[in-house]
Amino acid sequence: MRHTIVAGNWKMHKNAAETQQFVNDLIENMPNGKEVEVIIAPPFTNLLIATQTLEHTNIGVAAQNMHQAEGGAFTGEISADMLKSVGVNTVILGHSERRQYFKETNALLANKVDTALRHNMRVIFCVGEELNDRKNKQHLNVVYYQLKDSLFHLPKSAWNNIVLAYEPVWAIGTGETATPEQAQEMHQYIREQIAIQYDKEVAENTSILYGGSVKPENSKEIFSKPDVDGGLIGGAALKVEDFVNIINNG
Ligand code: PEP
Repeated sequence: MRHTIVAGNWKMHKNAAETQQFVNDLIENMPNGKEVEVIIAPPFTNLLIATQTLEHTNIGVAAQNMHQAEGGAFTGEISADMLKSVGVNTVILGHSERRQYFKETNALLANKVDTALRHNMRVIFCVGEELNDRKNKQHLNVVYYQLKDSLFHLPKSAWNNIVLAYEPVWAIGTGETATPEQAQEMHQYIREQIAIQYDKEVAENTSILYGGSVKPENSKEIFSKPDVDGGLIGGAALKVEDFVNIINNG
C-alpha cells in the first residue's frame, strides 16, 4: 500500500562501531506518532548489527545491492538468501552508482529484481536520468525505459513488493536538488506509466520516493508534492539529527 517512507542509503560509510552507535542513537531519537516507515541501508558487513539491534523496533533494514544468482562462484558477491539469513527483507536495486561504476544495465537489474521477488524480498528500485538526458529533454524517456526494461515484465501481484525511487543522477551527492516541481512532474509521469502498463490501482498503491541531495531544509517542500511518498536519502542520512529531522518532515 502506498505510504510515506524515509530510507537512508549509507553507501560505503560507517564501520561496525559507528553503525552500532548510529542505531542506538536513532532508536533514542525516533519521533513518536509519525506515520512514516523508516529504513536504513548500511553496508553488508553491518547489516547483522543493524537487524539485531533494531529487531524490536519499527525501523527497517535494507541492503544496498544483491547478486542475481542463487549462489555459486561469484567472488565478493552476496545472495538474497544470505541477506534474508541476517534478517534483511528489503534491497535497493538499480542505484545510479551501481549503474555508473559497476555497469549494471536495465536487463541485469531485471534479473536481480526477479531473484529478490522470488525470495519474497521487497525492492526499492532506483531510476533517474543523467544531466545530459535532461538537457536534451530525454528525461522522461530514459526513466520510461528503465521501468519498462527492468520492471514491466512483472505480474501485477509483484508490485506489492516494489517501491520506486526517482533519483536524478545530476542531483545525487552534488548539492543540486530537483525542484519540487521537477520531482512532481517525474513522479506523476511514473505513476501514469504504471497505470498504463497495469492499472490505476497498482499505480496508486506504489510508493515513489525522491532522492538527490534531500536535506532537513528542503525535505518538507519536496515531500509535500502529491506524488512524492518520502525520500531515499544519501549524505543527510549519515547524521542521526539530520535523518530524524527529515523523518519529521515525512
Ligand atoms: C542517494 O545516494 O541515493 C542519494 C540520494 O544521495 P544524496 O542524498 O547524498 O544526494
